[in-house]
Amino acid sequence: MRAGQQMVDDHGNQVALFPLEYLYISQGENGSYSHQGILAIDFLGWGQNGRRLLCPYYAPCDCKVVYHASYYNVWESLAPVVTPNGLQYITFEVAHDDNPPPLGTTANQGDLIGHTGTNGHVTGDHLHLNSAIGHYQGFYTVSTGKRQLVNSSHIYNTFYVNDTKIKRGYGYTWKLFNGGNVPTYRKYNFKWVLYANKIRSRNV
Ligand SMILES: [Zn+2]
Repeated sequence: MRAGQQMVDDHGNQVALFPLEYLYISQGENGSYSHQGILAIDFLGWGQNGRRLLCPYYAPCDCKVVYHASYYNVWESLAPVVTPNGLQYITFEVAHDDNPPPLGTTANQGDLIGHTGTNGHVTGDHLHLNSAIGHYQGFYTVSTGKRQLVNSSHIYNTFYVNDTKIKRGYGYTWKLFNGGNVPTYRKYNFKWVLYANKIRSRNV
């Protein structure tokens, strides 16, 4: 998705959009570095000039922080959203931002919600993204000892990639939403600007 992008279907349901402007995978599902047995994917920040550190990413739908930790957040959609798997609530974990916004933060679709980073046991700047179906139900540990959200889903079945430039997609079946409208009103009115300005004042 693009910064500020908003999209609804013909019934006014928001379409869940992939949160980065470019899609460049550095580690896939079940990756041998740190994703054994889990559906999380790591993405590098990317831009028109290539690799981009502290790369911004955006709210895939109207959402709120339902779990906050020092180096990751879990966000949940405020309503069911249109995904490649149908209309449903979604939950997603974003990790390694230097300064993830606090519990209860709300965002409108398209708002800045974080940056790629190196916070929390990582070797290089990236976004660790894990998505799940339904309301937040916590994490569980799989047999390999890795952790993921309860009811985890494939990233490519959670977010549509409209207006995302795919640079390294690992052969996954990334999907485009067919149609889509720009909403004429905002469903919610959040004071997100304060947070966005705070983030923007950093050297990014
Ligand atoms: Zn990861």
